Amino acid sequence: MNREALYYKDIKEFDATVLSCENAGEYFRIVLDTEGFYPEGGGQPSDHGKIIGNGQEIDVLDVQIEKGKVVHYTDAPLDCGHVHCIIDWDRRMRNTQNHSGEHILSGLVNKKFGYNNVGFHMDTQSAQTKGAMTIDFDGVLTWNELMEIENKANAIVVQDRKVSVLWPSKEQLKDLHYRSKKELSGNVRLIEIDGADLCACCGTHVHTTGEIGMIKCLSIMNYKGGVRVEMVCGKDALDDYRKKHELLQRVSRMLSSNIDTLEEALQSQRREKEEREKKLGSLYREYFMLYKTSRKWVEGVYLILVENMEPVQIRQFCDFLLRETCVKTVIIGSKLSSQYSYVIGTKTGDAREIGKKLNATLNGRGGGTKEMVQGAFLSTKEEVIKEVKAMDPMVHFEE
Ligand SMILES: [Zn+2]
Repeated sequence: MNREALYYKDIKEFDATVLSCENAGEYFRIVLDTEGFYPEGGGQPSDHGKIIGNGQEIDVLDVQIEKGKVVHYTDAPLDCGHVHCIIDWDRRMRNTQNHSGEHILSGLVNKKFGYNNVGFHMDTQSAQTKGAMTIDFDGVLTWNELMEIENKANAIVVQDRKVSVLWPSKEQLKDLHYRSKKELSGNVRLIEIDGADLCACCGTHVHTTGEIGMIKCLSIMNYKGGVRVEMVCGKDALDDYRKKHELLQRVSRMLSSNIDTLEEALQSQRREKEEREKKLGSLYREYFMLYKTSRKWVEGVYLILVENMEPVQIRQFCDFLLRETCVKTVIIGSKLSSQYSYVIGTKTGDAREIGKKLNATLNGRGGGTKEMVQGAFLSTKEEVIKEVKAMDPMVHFEE
């Protein structure tokens, strides 16, 4: 850990000299004489940015400490010599705000419950994290307890408390009570949030807590005997608020409602849907009855082709015919867009056998029990009739 490194000094742009550049497969490894890009460490993702020199501008995609050297992984090579470097400051600030916010929250949880932060993922811009960082604690918290902690954390932000970097001597360190993930050797860097937390850390931090902005927990779930908390701070919290607010506005407009009455509007939609389903159910029962009484039924196998009947109704129709008529086996197909949804029900045979045969000849899929199978054929009406007749020439066909 280089306490004099430029990345600890809030410098957005700097000049440097390229000491080496080598090909590393997909990337290039560049070593500079100046340590301005923050290398991944202490749970904090590395800086990104640009290196400009000799008329070239290349992207820094990752920065790692390897054998004591800060190595920059880039998308293109660069000649040795003088360069100008620009740090992606938006990314750095998001990481810094999240990191300092995480210290406050972890410190408060530790103080109140004695639980430790045993792992966190802070790269909110990576595809995996979906915009929020995660913190794992080795004890269980409820959502309400977490909300109390969140209130306290935000109060510390509003108080704009001083955040200091301490490099205590070995002697001084013995008397300090601080949080740390592992046993430390060599120089120890401590981050002190005035009156709130003291924690060993090599990350970048704000100068006063006001710079963090809002600290917002998004979710809590049980994880490895403790809990995993999802949270966002500062710019990430603002982005999260915007994204969700705009989503709520869009959904509200879809329901001709507003955000305050959205829940009511959704409940009323759900009630209306249930009412419609009830009405549809009773209309279908009438339809099944009319279908039955308008035909003369005999014992045997029936193929019935209809249109636009949903799978749930086809199943009810099949049940009804097997219960209310003397038919032995019924194959019902309903044309829905480009395919036939089907149900095969039987009182005597094995519906799975019939399903298997027809799936093979009618480009179908599906399955079920001995009494009833359900699925879909990717075939035309003519093909369905032809193949069912080929299977059983005595089949009765109805529409
Ligand atoms: Zn830290």
